[in-house]
Amino acid sequence: MYRFAPSPTGDMHIGNLRVALFNYICSLQDKSGFILRIEDTDNARNIDGKDKEIFDILTKFGVKWDRLYYQSKNLKFHQEFAAKLLSEKKAFLCFCDEKSLEAKKEAAKAAGEAYRYDGACEHLSDDEVLHNPHPAAVRLKIKNEPQSFYDAIKGEVKFEPQNIDSFVLLRADKTPTYNFACAIDDMLEGVTFVIRGEDHVSNTPKQNLIREALGYTGKIGYAHLPIILNKEGKKMSKRENSSSVKWLLEKGYMPEAIANYLILLGNKTPCEIFSLNDAIKWFDIKNISKSPARFDEDKLAQINREHIKMASDERLKELGFNKPSLARFYTQESSLIPEIKAKIDQIYTHKNIDGEWSDNANLIKDAILNLDIPNSFDEFKNAIIQKTNLKGKALFMPLRLLLTKSEHGPELKELYDLIKDDIKEIVL
Ligand code: GLU
Repeated sequence: MYRFAPSPTGDMHIGNLRVALFNYICSLQDKSGFILRIEDTDNARNIDGKDKEIFDILTKFGVKWDRLYYQSKNLKFHQEFAAKLLSEKKAFLCFCDEKSLEAKKEAAKAAGEAYRYDGACEHLSDDEVLHNPHPAAVRLKIKNEPQSFYDAIKGEVKFEPQNIDSFVLLRADKTPTYNFACAIDDMLEGVTFVIRGEDHVSNTPKQNLIREALGYTGKIGYAHLPIILNKEGKKMSKRENSSSVKWLLEKGYMPEAIANYLILLGNKTPCEIFSLNDAIKWFDIKNISKSPARFDEDKLAQINREHIKMASDERLKELGFNKPSLARFYTQESSLIPEIKAKIDQIYTHKNIDGEWSDNANLIKDAILNLDIPNSFDEFKNAIIQKTNLKGKALFMPLRLLLTKSEHGPELKELYDLIKDDIKEIVL
């Protein structure tokens, strides 16, 4: 069982989409099922409507989930399990207030040390706990032992005891921390393999410790994906436009192309251009490189062009192209959907040609309107020459303007084949 567990706290980042695609592909390979879990337990950061945006984006990318959960619906389980750990003395109540913890964190920072909870409340007597009127958080008791887990991409990952402190499970307001909610949900939902971003590596031993304390014996495999860097080799920030899936879609990249690019990134693939269905046949998480991937929008543009060329008429119509063959043809000029649309619109728009080519354009227009439109461009060209006596640039420049509203562009001979049926309408 695989899952994708986005937080509804912002625009979907390409790194998140990559995680969703990889989990989805693997779930289809072993037919184990795919869960979509909206991790909405951070009320302060949740943004209304972001869950729907996630559904829309995944749907556009052809990702279908078998089950949908909202993490907040599991709150009672999180609280029950915290109580169970407390009663079994595997967890303890912590009365330290934010202020004193903050001061200790600051002191550690000033001393150049990593902050670690000092265990202040771990050994309070029952009496001290009972008579403490302050709200308490629940922390997990940790043994002073190294932790490790096997990562399908990174191999064995080890953590020294000083890197894992008695971390918080339930805050004083009774809300679970991310690690606690996530560990429990993965257990309750029967997740068997987790693919997620590298920023979660240090959470994995904590989540394993939580389930171990709860007596869970089910095994969960892990793969943490290296981060995606920008062209300059820096971590792609959330504010960077091209890191937002919504922005890439709005700019005119096809979902098929974005998915292709994200699967190709830092991977060993049998070919460069493929569909999600192709990838299901050969995708192997072990082939993902350990080193960070670099996002290259030019490469994405090239892949987009190939997907527009490959797309069926039906798909291109869905994307708003009324003339699918022209959409494919114009990939030689541009790789983005709106730019290609603009070029096609220019063909079908009314054109007022003034300036140096105006008279010739009128002559050519009359000739075309009175012509039995031939099949081949050569016959067409000869017929116009015969009727107008124009040749060379004096013929081709106004003809190009009449057909495309632009002085530059593709070979007219090739374009002609695609527009000859509409040519009178085009020049009118
Ligand atoms: N909500 C977390 C995130 O979006 C999920 C991490 C995980 O997959 O466990 O980063």
